[in-house]
Amino acid sequence: MTETLDIKITKSSKSRLAETDFSNLVFGRTFTDHMLVADYEDGEWKNFEILPYGNILVSPAISSLHYGQSFFEGIKAYKHANGKVSIFRPDKNAVRFNKSAERLCMPTLPEDVFLQSLAAVVDIDRDWIPTAPGHSLYIRPFMFATDQFLGVTPSQTYKYMVLLCPVGPYFTKPLRVKIETYYTRSAEGGMGYAKSSGNYGGSMLPARKATEEGFDQLIWTDAKEHKYVEEMGAANAMFVLDGKLITPIAQDTILDGVTRDTVITLARDWGFPVEERKVAVAEIIEGAKTGKLTDAFGAGTAATIAPVGSINYNGEEYTLIDAKEREFSQKVLKTLDAIRYGNAPDTHGWNYFV
Ligand SMILES: *Cc1c(COP(=O)(O)O)cnc(C)c1O
Repeated sequence: MTETLDIKITKSSKSRLAETDFSNLVFGRTFTDHMLVADYEDGEWKNFEILPYGNILVSPAISSLHYGQSFFEGIKAYKHANGKVSIFRPDKNAVRFNKSAERLCMPTLPEDVFLQSLAAVVDIDRDWIPTAPGHSLYIRPFMFATDQFLGVTPSQTYKYMVLLCPVGPYFTKPLRVKIETYYTRSAEGGMGYAKSSGNYGGSMLPARKATEEGFDQLIWTDAKEHKYVEEMGAANAMFVLDGKLITPIAQDTILDGVTRDTVITLARDWGFPVEERKVAVAEIIEGAKTGKLTDAFGAGTAATIAPVGSINYNGEEYTLIDAKEREFSQKVLKTLDAIRYGNAPDTHGWNYFV
């Protein structure tokens, strides 16, 4: 930790907390009372400010709108039974934030500044953190280019912001997923590893088509041959095949998920075999047919551990064993919840207290 970040704070005059219905939270629709904003100008970050959540004024010519110089992060904060508040592994997000920034020719943010900014805004809105099972405070840091200039060149000015949303479970039932064999999320040399807004823009049409066909999610495959599993919408794809946890290597085309890393770390703690390698669609389908595929789930901050109920490949549907009977993902979910809500020892130091 270096010096304390200087943040100007303007509190909202009237909290919206009392009128918020915490029993019907739609992911990403409810915002807390405050947000954080900072500006990048003349080669440095300045004007860190926490102020009431609300609209901001920007020029219609900002290059983030025209050329997509924009990216984000997703993190969760939890309230423990003893009232303590912790953010789950934000140091990993700080590193990834800067990887995204570099890929998009945007300025990095010192990791300790990132962490202090999250802690400051979460602290102010700590009463907004829901405590019901599966609930948390979703933290959305993001950065976007603000130059008023239509030339295609990296912006000289940027805004960094943090929004907060109380959230409940993202998915409520096992997912019906389709293995995508035409569209591509990212290719080698692209920006699949960055949490860039543009990756999401490009995924909307394929995702909508899949939804219209009755699927909940896609499993993306490699851009060259569509033979290897990449990842799911906003979650990494993980499988238990033949008694081993297998998942694609998080290189160029795949987002290096914090949840993915957490699951792998827990598996290794338990002595459960882990293989990070190329995962062929053929072996997953074969495993689904023979019953050797005993678990399949998406791992992500928003989705946490989202069980895959069935996999559709080239029009054939393969139904997997009942999600409640899956030993591995059930154990992961239980362990993760226990650590995040402060009910189990945090041996890896994953909880960052606010
Ligand atoms: C955010 C994200 C994930 C999950 O990463 P976490 O750090 O676990 O939240 C996976 N894939 C994509 C494409 C993502 O954007």
